[in-house]
Amino acid sequence: EYINFKELVNFVLDRFDMMVDEQEKKYQIYREFTKRELWVEVDTDRMIQVVDNLMNNAVKYSPDGGTITVRLVETHNNIILSISDQGIGIPPNDINKVFDRFYRVDKARARKQGGTGLGLAISKEVVKAHGGNVWVESREHVGSTFYISLPYEPYEEDWWE
Ligand code: ATP
Ligand code: MG
Repeated sequence: EYINFKELVNFVLDRFDMMVDEQEKKYQIYREFTKRELWVEVDTDRMIQVVDNLMNNAVKYSPDGGTITVRLVETHNNIILSISDQGIGIPPNDINKVFDRFYRVDKARARKQGGTGLGLAISKEVVKAHGGNVWVESREHVGSTFYISLPYEPYEEDWWE
């Protein structure tokens, strides 16, 4: 269905904002969004799941909380969503594997934290099915930024003027 991608992201982030109060861990979410409305055709439920997965990871792998910055920008044919955390980061040797099924960086620690190691693999599958892409940049002990891009045809506002 056709939806405004900004609203979809806001829907997920609002839930995380509400959860802050219920957790001992304090994090703050910053939203830096393009002013344009981003109309895209997506499988809404599955795309919500993707954003939810990335947000869950940002919280889970930031033991000291910190700032989670969510950016939404458009290029002339893509939407790019990025989620940056100030968490534990990902070692260089693992960074190409985090999107693999069942891959988890620190097995012992990951077991304690719960989860299956499928979140990113499923997210990648969903984004690819929409013709988009996923990637990550990270520095150990500094933080990670996960990106997703989706194909996008800008709506020509000027045409209506
Ligand atoms: P699940 O999502 O299935 O509950 P999971 O979070 O372990 O379990 P993924 O979301 O697929 O699985 O992530 C795979 C691994 O990548 C994680 O176990 C973790 O080691 C690493 N990882 C993912 N996101 C981050 C992040 N924001 N910061 C640091 N490491 C991360
Ligand atoms: Mg996860």
